[in-house]
Amino acid sequence: MGLNGIFCGIGRRLPVHRAALALGVGAVLAVPMAWAAADTPRNVLIKNGYVLTMDGALGDLPRADVRIRAGRISDVGPGLTADPSSEIIDAAGQVVMPGFVDTHSHLWITALRGQYRNTPDTAFFTTTNRLAPHFTPDDTYVGILLGTVEGAYGGITTMTDFFDNVQTRDHMTAALAALRDAPLRARLLYGAQSKTTARQTDLPHVQALAQDWGRHSADGRISLGLAWRLPPKLDDATVWPAKLEELDTARRLKLPVAVHVSGNAEAMFDALISRRLLGPDMQVVHATDARSDQIAALNQAGASLALTPLTEQRVGYGLTVLSTYADVQRLGLGIDGNALAGSADMFGTMRLAALTQAGEARRETLVSPRDLLALATIRGAAALGMHDQVGSLTPGKRADVQIIDMNALNIGPYAGGDPSAWLVYSATPANVRTVIADGRVVKRDGAMVGIDVPALMQRARASVAGILERAEKAAPVNAK
Ligand SMILES: [Zn+2]
Repeated sequence: MGLNGIFCGIGRRLPVHRAALALGVGAVLAVPMAWAAADTPRNVLIKNGYVLTMDGALGDLPRADVRIRAGRISDVGPGLTADPSSEIIDAAGQVVMPGFVDTHSHLWITALRGQYRNTPDTAFFTTTNRLAPHFTPDDTYVGILLGTVEGAYGGITTMTDFFDNVQTRDHMTAALAALRDAPLRARLLYGAQSKTTARQTDLPHVQALAQDWGRHSADGRISLGLAWRLPPKLDDATVWPAKLEELDTARRLKLPVAVHVSGNAEAMFDALISRRLLGPDMQVVHATDARSDQIAALNQAGASLALTPLTEQRVGYGLTVLSTYADVQRLGLGIDGNALAGSADMFGTMRLAALTQAGEARRETLVSPRDLLALATIRGAAALGMHDQVGSLTPGKRADVQIIDMNALNIGPYAGGDPSAWLVYSATPANVRTVIADGRVVKRDGAMVGIDVPALMQRARASVAGILERAEKAAPVNAK
């Protein structure tokens, strides 16, 4: 199975090549030009934009420059001069802001977009559980890579991948290869073989990866954590020991942990609290309709929370009402699967949260577009414990930047001033003109750099066709 055609094969990096061999895709896996062409981050000077730093001390700079040196933001301010050989990007009339931080997703399902069609047979969990066993490592690679490319296209520069279909170690190797080739920063959360079995996560593999992470991290661009699940039946005493061993292993290895609190959310949250499992290393996901005492316990433990409004409402968990979470100290927004959310659209995520909050309260003025932008950037980074690195345009941080065209038909006219309302209520991923991730330009003038998107989409079409065919052969549903 060749992956040639997705990338322009202008070079090779050993880690990718090794991963390709492990995947059995042999020598045809070429390096994505997005990284190969810019292996050393270039110096960039972004000129004359409205700079929304999302840094409390720096604030907004209505006409300023952002200078990037060796992958980091070196200066922010008016009238900066370009280093020799810098790429200069004119951002006049545009907004320059930090890339979005997606605090929770499931990238492997990206190619299943459209398969969720809201009948009992095609609902999200039914469909995903039916198709998951038919994913090969190659399907995993293509889905995750496509998910990240879409994310970066829409201004997302950090994605958190709760990978819960680790059927074999080769699937994990494929996930890692995809994130190494991805045009953004990622946290890979190592999950179980399947979400429907209580089988334990491959802890020896988690440990082996963690102890040798420097070799896998793509110079620190990818971090590792545990995609943990509570026992499917909370009162099943036979499953708890294995689950607690997973958690203990992660904590011994100092890995961050994410856990879903959904479906039976209230009891699950209570189980985390009563068993004293929350901690600063733990991210709770969803917790729809959380009680105030549960949120107090979350804060007390220093744990964080990820809200994914598009998917929480799509699958019927309830309404994602932001005021419920007003007291949460470490809070972020997530996409939760491009395929389930519809698309990796952080603008749409902010918008839905804003609309739901006002609609539920019957009060337009309750919503602050600026607060939503903070959730999607600096607060999301803090929720992941990555705010020292990303989330704001602060000198010294890694250069994760997006530039938004404020003159497109769906967003303009913009004649200056605080752009928050334009960004929350009007912007779409297509309005993101330029994206810089970890100092590399990965989207320029509206087009992805170095990635042949039609070829990647064609690979994804072939991938999903194969998955559907194998699943149908194994257990025909269409024959019914
Ligand atoms: Zn999830």
